[in-house]
Amino acid sequence: MELIFASNNRHKLEEIAKIAGNQFTIKNLKQANCEGEIPETGTTLAENALQKAHWVYDKTGKNCFADDTGLEIEALNGAPGVYTARFAGDDCTPEDNIQKTLRLLKGETNRRACFRTVIACIIDGKEYLFEGEVKGSIATEKMGEGGFGYDPIFVPEGFSESFAQMPLEQKNGMSHRGRATAKFVEFLNTLKKVSIENKSK
Ligand code: IMP
Repeated sequence: MELIFASNNRHKLEEIAKIAGNQFTIKNLKQANCEGEIPETGTTLAENALQKAHWVYDKTGKNCFADDTGLEIEALNGAPGVYTARFAGDDCTPEDNIQKTLRLLKGETNRRACFRTVIACIIDGKEYLFEGEVKGSIATEKMGEGGFGYDPIFVPEGFSESFAQMPLEQKNGMSHRGRATAKFVEFLNTLKKVSIENKSK
């Protein structure tokens, strides 16, 4: 089955492709020749994920999916949440976001946080949603070089290393996107089974 992923983020694609295995061909927006500014104006992760998936589906008519992720920090009343990508302002870098987070939490003892991902997919015109989350805490300084986004300052519950210090397989096994993707892939596998059973009737 071929699916278009509504993103050009190579880290995300790599994470998802590893979990999905080679039974699915996943193309990013560039590979699918899908160009333009992808909208992201929802007020919830699900709204954003659906908006992105519909944008691709309307342009291509092909099976596709999109994800949206939020980092919810307890001491900041759940911020940045749906605004995680633009926490430090429009056109900010991941480093700007990390520095803003560390600055706001300076001296704060409650560093509990949660990463949440919603995946929206459109298969044969029907939409489906999958969610995954991982609890953890915000480190007091950056740790590690791997991963992307907020990985150097996010330490999952039960660990002392940040996501940026873990091999991809280990991050995928517990991460918000890893969990949402596992549910999504399980769903795709049931669809495949149904279509094989229908063909053999
Ligand atoms: P979006 O889902 O691409 O909108 O991501 C929202 C924000 O969360 C961006 O700043 C990403 O860099 C960040 N983000 C998404 N997934 C991860 C992750 O797995 N680790 C660290 N940061 C992430």
